[in-house]
Amino acid sequence: MKCVICKKGNTKLGKTTVTLDREGSTLVFKDVPASVCTNCGEAYVDGAITARLLDSAETAVRSGIQVEIRQYSAA
Ligand SMILES: [Zn+2]
Repeated sequence: MKCVICKKGNTKLGKTTVTLDREGSTLVFKDVPASVCTNCGEAYVDGAITARLLDSAETAVRSGIQVEIRQYSAA
């Protein structure tokens, strides 16, 4: 698809790092599948994947985790 940020590049499948901040907890997910702009590097993460990451973040907040780096896994 066409990148909506720079309006010049096209996206291709790749991976990105997503950082979520929730009530004092910071979660970093590495290797998240995304469509990445070949021009500016903007990453577009699928809505279903984003929902899963937010879910994990909520769990982390409840567990009292302050900072955590996780590898994204599809399982
Ligand atoms: Zn772009």
